[in-house]
Amino acid sequence: MKFSTRAIHAGQGPDPATGATIVPIYQTSTYTQRAVGEHLGYDYSRSVNPTRAALETQLAALEDARYCSAFASGMAATSAVMNLLSAGDHVVVGDDLYGGTYRVFSKVFARYGIGFTYVDFADLAATRAALQPNTKLLWAETPTNPLLRLVDITALAALRPSGALLAVDNTFASPYFQSPLELGADIVVHSTTKYIGGHSDAIGGAAMSNDGDVAQTIKFHQNAVGGVPGPFDAFLVMRGAKTLALRMREHERNAALVADFLVSRDDVERVYYPGLATHPQHDLAARQMRGFGGMVSFVLRGDAERTFAFAKATKLFSLAESLGGVESLVGIPARMTHGSIPQAEREARGISDSLVRLSVGIEDPGDLLDDLRHALDTTDARVMR
Ligand code: PLP
Repeated sequence: MKFSTRAIHAGQGPDPATGATIVPIYQTSTYTQRAVGEHLGYDYSRSVNPTRAALETQLAALEDARYCSAFASGMAATSAVMNLLSAGDHVVVGDDLYGGTYRVFSKVFARYGIGFTYVDFADLAATRAALQPNTKLLWAETPTNPLLRLVDITALAALRPSGALLAVDNTFASPYFQSPLELGADIVVHSTTKYIGGHSDAIGGAAMSNDGDVAQTIKFHQNAVGGVPGPFDAFLVMRGAKTLALRMREHERNAALVADFLVSRDDVERVYYPGLATHPQHDLAARQMRGFGGMVSFVLRGDAERTFAFAKATKLFSLAESLGGVESLVGIPARMTHGSIPQAEREARGISDSLVRLSVGIEDPGDLLDDLRHALDTTDARVMR
């Protein structure tokens, strides 16, 4: 079955109890047992819930994965993967990544005796040099948040030492545009809050794998630690995911138009979008992904004040955290999503106050370009002076 069909049918089917065509929201914490230990496979909703189980089947089908565990957030999914590790283990991490991931690694898991080395995964020699005998995990985002750099998943998988796993956060690309497991990754993580849910109305996450032992350990932690999504959030993510293919095509079309528009502006210093032929890893993106996605970042000329004024002046692009919803969002990563990375480190990575990140929605593209043009023109450094 092709992607769109899987998105609509995997895990769905009529409800066995009532025939309901749409998976019901099983809003229950527990299940009545006929006799001690005698039940229909459901005993307690932290361990198992039919709405969540349907979502897990659907998400596994989207990533072509054998196993999926759904979580209450992307960070809960990330943390469940980190629970595979023990004190004394070492992780090599791509040096451009979501600020919250950096925060949980440096402020939570580092305290448990796990070591982290940050490296530019585009530099394979540096990556090889960062490996240690106790390296148990490589953690990559691709495209990265917020600089839209790419990581060659196949190359990274090839150099991971035996006994080490490669986990890829596929949130930015979505399973519609990229299949990390097919490219050699061991684990795929998503913030389903973003493109998969797609409507900015639910927080969620997922971890998927084809490796039975890895999946079983993640499932164990899902229940033992308990970061599970409630049935209503599971329902919302599942409903959103049914239209993922349609939405991603529109996101990409609009993002390409926005990127071209920004390139044409002389008050824009630099545009980051993997679909641009000028993107340094455009060829890798074309090879590794089935589309370039809906995220565009750029650097505005002028001082930070001008950038902040621009972010406030857009009307259709809401100034907000998050990404991947049908509505367009604008953010200043240094002050928002990546504020938890120390300033010096942020700036060394190219995340200055003049960097703007757009999550390009699926509104009419002409309206989006008008909104950006108006906000840029009215806050132009020359006009503001
Ligand atoms: N991974 C990426 C790439 C993200 O952008 C985010 C959130 O912005 C997360 C993970 C965390 O997801 P959540 O906010 O659902 O916990």
